[in-house]
Order: sequence, then structure tokens, then C-alpha cells
Amino acid sequence: MKYNLTSEQQKKVEQLKQMSPQQWESICKRCGICCLCKIQIGPEKQTSNFYTNVCCDAFNPVTRQCTMYASRLTRIKQDCKKVDLDIILDGTLLPRTCGYVEYIFGPAPFKTSVNWKLVKPETLVKLDTPLQIMQHLILDSQNWNKR
Ligand code: SF4
Ligand code: SF4
Repeated sequence: MKYNLTSEQQKKVEQLKQMSPQQWESICKRCGICCLCKIQIGPEKQTSNFYTNVCCDAFNPVTRQCTMYASRLTRIKQDCKKVDLDIILDGTLLPRTCGYVEYIFGPAPFKTSVNWKLVKPETLVKLDTPLQIMQHLILDSQNWNKR
């Protein structure tokens, strides 16, 4: 989903474009939410995104850090995407509370909370298990991406 940005939001986008890699990294809040697996539920074109208690197998839920950050984009299982402006403005890939999203759109009007003690790497969870059995993995997060 793309947005019609206000001039103020467009200015923020331009500021992000000018940032050095260090400045860019400093915007990340290290919340870890983007490393949680999401699932889409609902009929086509009306699907809702839900975050789950399942994380990428390279994520450490205790430290909330990626264990292979430097090589994350070239590892054999390449399902990690570099956070860039397309991802930030996509509207379905990052929570509203993400530092980059807040930088453009202002502070999120709601909180996101994850019980990290319950989060397990995807290698320990059969993600092809029927949805009914997976229900307990789904977080109450239907609106987390809403702008
Ligand atoms: S590879 Fe690292 S940064 Fe990428 S989704 Fe997995 S844990 Fe997150
Ligand atoms: S959701 Fe945003 S702020 Fe949180 S870890 Fe991912 S990129 Fe950083």
C-alpha cells in the first residue's frame, strides 16, 4: 500500500534518503518486531496481517538481536529484506511503532507488546500446521501496521 504523503512527511522521507548508514541505523529502535513471522488471514483483498509468536530462525528472542546481522541478506535461506524506503512505505511490512515509520508519520498512536518469553524460532514450529492449531501463536496485532 502506498500513501499520499503530506509535504512534512515527504520532507522526512528526503531526510532519510540523505542519512549516512550510521544515522540510518540509529533510527531503528531494536524492537525486533520486524523479525516476527506474520500471517495473512481473511479473503483475498480483505486480508489482515497478524504477527505471531514465531520469529526468524536467525533471531535471538532473549537479546532481541539478529545473530547474523552482517550476513543476513546473503545467507542461504534468503528471506530477510533490507529495511529501505520501499519497505517503510509499503504499509504491510513494518509495525506502526517501527522507528522508521514513526520518523515519517510521527509517534504511533498505540503500543505494540510482545511477550518475548513465548517467542520461538520458526525451526522449532511447524509453520505448515493447520491454522486452527496455530491460533495460539497469533498475537493480537491486527492493527499493528495501520498508518
Ligand atoms: S535474518 Fe536477522 S534481521 Fe533478517 S529477519 Fe532474520 S533475524 Fe531479522
Ligand atoms: S520494526 Fe523497525 S524499529 Fe523495530 S527492529 Fe524492525 S526496523 Fe528496527
